[in-house]
Amino acid sequence: MSHSILEISQRDEVPTPCYLMDESLLARNLKILDHVQQESGGKIILALKGFAMWSTFPQISQTLCGTTASSLSEARLGMEKFGGEVHAYCVAYRDPEMDFLRKHCHHITLNSLSQWQRFQHHVNQPETTASFGLRINPEYSEVETDIYNPCRKGSRFGITATDLANADASILEGIDGLHFHTMCEQNSDTLERTLEHVEAKFGTYLQTMKWLNCGGGHHITRPDYDTDRLVRLIQHLRAAYDLEVYLEPGEAVALNTGFLITRVIDRFNSDGHPIAILDTSAAAHMPDVLEMPYRPEILGASDPGEKKHTITLGGTTCLAGDVIGDWSFDEDLKVGDRLVFTDMAHYSMVKTNHFNGVDHPAIGRYHHQTDEVIIDRQFTYEDYRDRLS
Ligand SMILES: *Cc1c(COP(=O)(O)O)cnc(C)c1O
Repeated sequence: MSHSILEISQRDEVPTPCYLMDESLLARNLKILDHVQQESGGKIILALKGFAMWSTFPQISQTLCGTTASSLSEARLGMEKFGGEVHAYCVAYRDPEMDFLRKHCHHITLNSLSQWQRFQHHVNQPETTASFGLRINPEYSEVETDIYNPCRKGSRFGITATDLANADASILEGIDGLHFHTMCEQNSDTLERTLEHVEAKFGTYLQTMKWLNCGGGHHITRPDYDTDRLVRLIQHLRAAYDLEVYLEPGEAVALNTGFLITRVIDRFNSDGHPIAILDTSAAAHMPDVLEMPYRPEILGASDPGEKKHTITLGGTTCLAGDVIGDWSFDEDLKVGDRLVFTDMAHYSMVKTNHFNGVDHPAIGRYHHQTDEVIIDRQFTYEDYRDRLS
């Protein structure tokens, strides 16, 4: 017997605040990703930047063949907890990082020609396992918010076609692949238009490459995502250039699989305005609510004014803006009530911080077959203390 997350969130065994991953929802996403891999012949790896809850890696690694890291620590986590292929892309590597990564990674992508020149001598050195690639900037993206747009003017990401053409032709000796990452929460029609630019500008280079990594930002597991088109695009790239094609989504792997369960710890009116304080925080536990910004969903709650009681939900930190937003409820909230925020697995968990010394949410999983809640991790004062000195 399995229960709804709303029912499960009421159980005493679920501490608050707590990130709870629903393993059956993760399985549903993995099935879609597996379908894309099977049909297209492309490979999908998990971007640890977006989702790194490693208690789920035994499940994910049955479908995805590896991980990609944006730092040495992420690469080590991929090796230790996920296995399979470990890829790395970093805006700039430091010497000791490169010395470790070249011996343990499958692919290493360099962000600039100067980084490549600095590390080129590692190719074919004893112990080097990595195949090297360059991040290109196709100077085309459909991301409108500048803070998320890797192709904004003067971007520090990737090499433009002009810069590559102006370099000495021998610069590509030792380079096996190209990498671009220009998308964010987008559908495959955006990829199709992006590839037109990639192929027009870099097509001749692709002829000589072994692999192409199309980055992340593919919202493959969203209900309206066109997987057929994605499959066609990957098949085209493989056939036209004889390439191994990789995608490295973070968000799409964990999209709509995790919840943040929180409790009301105070309820009062300020100047007649109803306020509930939760044992969570926008600033510390869901920073994207303030940064993106976006409005999360709460199970059983509606937009302001739709239900009888409209209440502002606030966090526990001293930041005046630590407000999650306004929602309406059938019944007034009271201390002890539990609320469930949806879609809190990706980015929320990896970005969580200890601002104000607030309690870190516990991390757990719900296992449908056995109707069991497994709390993998609870955080203590020592976790807060030990990241400072
Ligand atoms: C952020 C990032 C990803 C993952 O992006 P999602 O939007 O989570 O799919 C993949 N590759 C690179 C280089 C990134 O910077």
